[in-house]
Amino acid sequence: MNDSASRAAFERARKVIPGGVNSPVRAFLAVGGTPRFIARAAGPYLYDLDGNELVDLICSWGPMLLGHAHPEVLAAVGAAAAHGTSYGAPTLAEVELAEAIIERTPVEEVRLVSSGTEATMSVLRLARGITGRDMIIKFAGCYHGHVDALLAAAGSGVATLAHRAGAGPALPGSPGVTAATTADTVVLSYNDRVGVREAFTTYGDRIAAVITEAAAGNMGVVPPGVEDGVGFNTFLADLCHANGALFISDEVMTGFRVTRSGQYGIDGVEPDLMTFGKVMGGGFPAAAFGGRADLMQHLAPVGGVYQAGTLSGNPVATSAGLATLRLATDEVYAHVDRVSAALQTEVHAALSAAGVPHVIQAAGNLFSVFFVSGVDSVPDYATASGQSTTAYSAFFHAMLDQGVYLPPSAYEGWFLSSAHDDGAMDRIVTALPAAARAAA
Ligand code: PLP
Repeated sequence: MNDSASRAAFERARKVIPGGVNSPVRAFLAVGGTPRFIARAAGPYLYDLDGNELVDLICSWGPMLLGHAHPEVLAAVGAAAAHGTSYGAPTLAEVELAEAIIERTPVEEVRLVSSGTEATMSVLRLARGITGRDMIIKFAGCYHGHVDALLAAAGSGVATLAHRAGAGPALPGSPGVTAATTADTVVLSYNDRVGVREAFTTYGDRIAAVITEAAAGNMGVVPPGVEDGVGFNTFLADLCHANGALFISDEVMTGFRVTRSGQYGIDGVEPDLMTFGKVMGGGFPAAAFGGRADLMQHLAPVGGVYQAGTLSGNPVATSAGLATLRLATDEVYAHVDRVSAALQTEVHAALSAAGVPHVIQAAGNLFSVFFVSGVDSVPDYATASGQSTTAYSAFFHAMLDQGVYLPPSAYEGWFLSSAHDDGAMDRIVTALPAAARAAA
């Protein structure tokens, strides 16, 4: 497949943008090779600068639940933009988007922001402001955006093991994140109930909140485990409440995607505070955090916890989000569920036929394929990081060569949309056997 225009663009980009990209995973570092530069997109397809048509299994890392360039979303965006692109004053559309989020989730009030990172950063400040406590528990392999305090073992198993409960503060996960910033962050292993109990025993009245992805999607998909009929999220919420801490569920990735009500639609756990992004922005920079009204009332201008944004509730982004949520009918979710289940079956069959060890895990319609051997499930980051990135890279490139665009990292979910029709699915399924053989 010709990628000369992408290669030229990448060379040019690297002279003016660090690594040639504006978000690191786009650079193909984990799989090698040259990232494709995208010229346009429609439905389930991306079109690169060389004119290659690629079946998109990233969907902009989640937002494009309806596929690319959905005509009704574009019409809503066009109509909003024609009325002006930013006012710095309230609009009715913001109220409607807040109402749409509240109608689908357990939150009673929301504040709109511009990115998932902003949402998680703000929600931590709010939780600390409300409780008057400093410490936060997060889980290794869970990603909550590039918030300093949460860039601690957001992908490092070594740091995780070194910083089990009681072992001390978390290590900064990036140069530039100070030890002081992560000193109040405790990093535990996902699905490890013993670790969480120990942390509360050790730090109990210092813990402001536990933040977790509602179902982990950033170490590959790792759903919350169920023990004795009790799900991990219920366990966390109960333990938080017994200790005067707040339970924060990050649904930036899962919200309005894995079901109409996100992971909440699957396990029904009511968090104190939640974060949202991706689908609710319809491909524009929009995100939100929300929760019980008595908690949200601590935010300025009502309460003292300050939070603000020049472009928060931007009218164009809001219109895209509203249109997307309104168009995301039960039929849309049923379709995405169906193509996701079918694809999981086909991937499993192709990898099995080629003798490639693997585990496929899903949270609703979001799934990922771990190239691991010797285990039949992946409950945490330590297990996820045992996978063969070499096998994934070979698989990835063989798919790309056949026109299927997978996430360029083994640690990411595969995203589908209501635009993934039979034609797109056939293209993926046809590509699988050769890619599986390449990974063997
Ligand atoms: N939280 C989760 C669960 C995410 O998956 C992400 C991004 O992938 C974020 C937060 C950060 O969102 P953003 O990239 O919009 O800042």
